[in-house]
Amino acid sequence: MKMMDAIVKPSAAPGLELRQVPVPEPGPGEVLIHIHKTAICGTDVHIYDWNDWSAAHVKPPMVIGHEYVGEIAALGPGVTGLRVGMRVSGEGHITCGHCRNCHNGNIQWCKDTVGVGVDRDGAFAEYVCIPSKNVIIIDPSLDEDVVAFFDAFGNATHTALMFNLVGEDVLITGAGPIGIIAAGICKYAGARRVVVTDVNEYRLDLARKMGADAAVNVAQENLHEIMHKQGLVEGFDVGLEMSGSESGLKQMISVMRNGGKISLLGLGSKPVSLDMNGIICKGLTLQGIYGRKMDNWHQMSYMVQGGLDLTPVITHRFHYTEFEKGFAAMHSGRSGKVILDWTTK
Ligand SMILES: [Zn+2]
Ligand SMILES: [Zn+2]
Repeated sequence: MKMMDAIVKPSAAPGLELRQVPVPEPGPGEVLIHIHKTAICGTDVHIYDWNDWSAAHVKPPMVIGHEYVGEIAALGPGVTGLRVGMRVSGEGHITCGHCRNCHNGNIQWCKDTVGVGVDRDGAFAEYVCIPSKNVIIIDPSLDEDVVAFFDAFGNATHTALMFNLVGEDVLITGAGPIGIIAAGICKYAGARRVVVTDVNEYRLDLARKMGADAAVNVAQENLHEIMHKQGLVEGFDVGLEMSGSESGLKQMISVMRNGGKISLLGLGSKPVSLDMNGIICKGLTLQGIYGRKMDNWHQMSYMVQGGLDLTPVITHRFHYTEFEKGFAAMHSGRSGKVILDWTTK
């Protein structure tokens, strides 16, 4: 049996392990991808830490990881339209293909979705195997370090582009990597002012580098003063909630203009209590966002080719054998995207 290196969740406890595991065999309709670069997601950190969410979802031993770029190494029986050697990434949600949302093109709402690197073996390995319908062809001109985190970029794209941004004032609560990327997308897509809030100075600084007009430490600064300085009159038109925190969402609702629209991406660790009257009397729209629409993958490539520079969000690069350093950087809070290189042994 051919073996490969992989970063594995070995057991139901904190930590990860670099191990030799068998190279997966592509079955009918499946594609084997040779991994070049991967990126560490907040989800991977949760799996590393073995928090309540991962204990309820992940079944060790399992290869983790779902943000990656590589090239096709082999095609299973019956795969058409793809060739060995093509540069590719993959949509991490494997959907049933038969439910109402799969049929209307909203695969992100499939009732039976299976997550690569969460529910089945993932991409922190020399090879990953996925269904051919999940393969995304990537133009070889694109920087692989950036494509490595297209999965996360896709979440940011889906959230940011849910509502019109041209000439709008946007508030992003939460300057994690997805919030930082979203700031860049909003400016690229024509927003007038983009204001990002957090309490982490390192990440607020990354948001400024990505083009945010203001990055506000809400523990120290008054958001209303910043809004006044930025020329906002009635409040924000569009809100992107990326923090998952009660305080972030409450503050967002309080500073939206009447008729404003909010995309909710940040998953909370506990339930929040909300003033319903604030939402009703302002006529706010709240839209939950999960995963990516398949079309977001095309939008991402085209935005990067059109000049959207995401390299400021990359703060660390390590060889995959140094994955512990990558997770330490993520735990420190002083990181954006962390890239792992699988191109050499
Ligand atoms: Zn992710
Ligand atoms: Zn489905």
